[in-house]
Amino acid sequence: MRSADLYRKAVRLMPGGVSSPVRAISPYPFYTTSAAGAYLETVDGPWLLDCCLGYGPLILGHAPEVVLDAIEAQLALGWLYGTPSPLELDLAREIVADHPSIEQVRFVSTGSEATMAAIRLARGFSGKSGIVKVEGGFHGAHDGVLIKAGSGATTLGIPDSAGVLPEVAARTLQVPFNDPDALEAVLSADDDVAALIIEPVLGNIGPILPEDGYLAAVREITRAHDVLLIFDEVITGYRLGIGGAQVRYGVTPDLTTLGKVVGGGLPIGVFGGRAEIMRLVAPTGPVYQAGTFSGNPLSLVAGLAAVRWLKANQGVYARFDDATRALEESVGRWPGSFVRLGSLFKHFFRSAPPRNYVEAKQADTVAFRRFWERMLQHGVFVPPSQFETNFLSVAHGEEEMAKLGEAYASCLS
Ligand SMILES: *Cc1c(COP(=O)(O)O)cnc(C)c1O
Repeated sequence: MRSADLYRKAVRLMPGGVSSPVRAISPYPFYTTSAAGAYLETVDGPWLLDCCLGYGPLILGHAPEVVLDAIEAQLALGWLYGTPSPLELDLAREIVADHPSIEQVRFVSTGSEATMAAIRLARGFSGKSGIVKVEGGFHGAHDGVLIKAGSGATTLGIPDSAGVLPEVAARTLQVPFNDPDALEAVLSADDDVAALIIEPVLGNIGPILPEDGYLAAVREITRAHDVLLIFDEVITGYRLGIGGAQVRYGVTPDLTTLGKVVGGGLPIGVFGGRAEIMRLVAPTGPVYQAGTFSGNPLSLVAGLAAVRWLKANQGVYARFDDATRALEESVGRWPGSFVRLGSLFKHFFRSAPPRNYVEAKQADTVAFRRFWERMLQHGVFVPPSQFETNFLSVAHGEEEMAKLGEAYASCLS
């Protein structure tokens, strides 16, 4: 059955026919049946070059052998124990070794769960009620962070969600990205703030890069106000390099959330930080957190395989930089602006790279939509939103980069 027919049936079974809103591409999304390397196979015909990559987790591409082997080996040993397993220690050890901010971790099943728990932990640790987030920052789909979130919420023009209690939203304060003065002003005016949660590189409305010194200023200001700094590295963790943004920019937060890449493409979330804070998590402390699938063996072996591969092949990070730089050089002459960092990239339909949410929203989304459709006709799938980051994987070789460059050139002209 073709995508149009499948979608007609799906909308009767599921709201918008999808399991996550960004996938509801109009007039209908394409349906995927398999994936390998840098490509997706759809029910409609030719394989598509994939620069969406599951919205970030698949840094090794689809079904890479090292992860596939690890999953297959684990399958025969069972996939849920309800007890601790030695695998938890293995992945925890890697994460602790790689992240200056992390002495202890808790495994959960999604990035949303990780940020939800990290925020609760910050409140439990500090005894304060408020949080500050960055406009356009996305931390998952739970109450309290769904305010001017990036991702699908921005694309659909829903700056807020129905069903979120106003009193919850009222304790989520907003600051613009790249504006340390605004953060200083908010924290000076409100001394009941537990934490600032921030994507060190805005990945769900961009990428939008931190300007020189911004993250260091954020670190100083939060420390001066006794406010915990949470880096949401669900996208940047193991994607910008080993140790994520905190190593790349040399700024150490109090708590860190991970997800996506660290699960090797299987569902995972992680939050971690100094032992002094983490010991407040149940059972050693009063901040409750629990999950049936937390630390499940399949996600752990997939994550371990991916992390160990990346650590043994760190040259890939420089190659990502080279690949997106070359793409920028070939795309840069077209109107708009090209933003890139390692394997993250995006062409904005806006004359200058956005510095924050407000500037990103000035992009021409109608032009983007036209471009997106043409890219698909050229056999390239980029995320269907001006506000979602494009990704590369190690499966994107010379042939794929050439194809991508050609597609950009003909679709932007
Ligand atoms: C994707 C994402 C999340 C949510 O992770 P899920 O696994 O989808 O729940 C949280 N924070 C950031 C920065 C993300 O990109």
